[in-house]
Amino acid sequence: MKAIVFYRHGDPDVLEAAELPTPHPGPGEVLVRVRACAMNHLDLWVRRGIPSLRLEMPHILGSDVAGVVAEVGPEISGIEVGDRVVVNATLSCGQCEFCLRGEDNRCRQGGILGEHVRGGYAEYVVVPARNLLKLPEGFPFEEAAAASLVFLTAWHMLITRGALRPGEDVLIVGAGGGVNTAALQIAKLAGARVIVVASNPEKAERARALGADHVIDRSQEPDWSRAAWQWTGRRGVDVVVDNVGRATWMKSIRVLRPGGRMLVVGATSGPNPEDFDIRYVFSRQISILGSTMGTQHDFRTVMGLIFAGRLRPVIDRVLPLTPAGAREGHRLLESGAVFGKIVFQVDAIE
Ligand code: ZN
Repeated sequence: MKAIVFYRHGDPDVLEAAELPTPHPGPGEVLVRVRACAMNHLDLWVRRGIPSLRLEMPHILGSDVAGVVAEVGPEISGIEVGDRVVVNATLSCGQCEFCLRGEDNRCRQGGILGEHVRGGYAEYVVVPARNLLKLPEGFPFEEAAAASLVFLTAWHMLITRGALRPGEDVLIVGAGGGVNTAALQIAKLAGARVIVVASNPEKAERARALGADHVIDRSQEPDWSRAAWQWTGRRGVDVVVDNVGRATWMKSIRVLRPGGRMLVVGATSGPNPEDFDIRYVFSRQISILGSTMGTQHDFRTVMGLIFAGRLRPVIDRVLPLTPAGAREGHRLLESGAVFGKIVFQVDAIE
């Protein structure tokens, strides 16, 4: 099969086409002919190299896969060749303490498709059958791939971990990221009031169009923390979603009401905030809730809402999965000049 791979870590130019043996599914596994694969920030981290992550080279990125079942391994029922499917990228053992109680995103033997094992920047990928969900008739592969990881992540963070309630105020730091565009829609669907901090007027407008109740454009209002605090009548917000980390952490902590929750699924600007004042955490009784990926139950719930049209993935653009297309996608995501998801269409890889 053809794939877009890298043999060494580095800038987007390390991405190249390669011919690799088509894998075959083992027991409990399925081979999927990839039709669409969406990008995540994770792809950038893995391409650049994560110190604790040892990869078998060449590595194939890609966590968000939708496609058609091409081969079914032994011990599988309910899935047939030709089924149109979307893949949950959260890999788990299915047998440990966490898996058995439905917390499979905490599995110690688990991982993420495209990070720990070869992913979907390829014509074919092998995945566990239990990670598949069938697409409704006619549902586009691109939308399914664009939805899967970010909506799963945002759902687990806001609903499962964050226990978001109707009427609560949620502040989302950043408008354009895939998780943030998903979090905004999920928070609205849950009956919350949503404040978005956007980096420029264009992203502010897009956030309004997606249903944000209040948008703060930080290019006009650098002290967005104070602006949000005042907008809530100096009460503070119930929940902050901050995946930026280092650059915004303390501003996010300051805007929380007493007893508020800080939800964290990433740290795109870096993991070590220098100005973190722990006194805020105890004096305001703040809960800091970390979250990563989501459970099989979350995946089925949120994808059901996607299939029903209650939630809609935001696609910035669709690119062909070629070396040039992959490099362009990586450069665009690195530049921050995207709103929503970049999706690769996987036809013939040249
Ligand atoms: Zn497990």
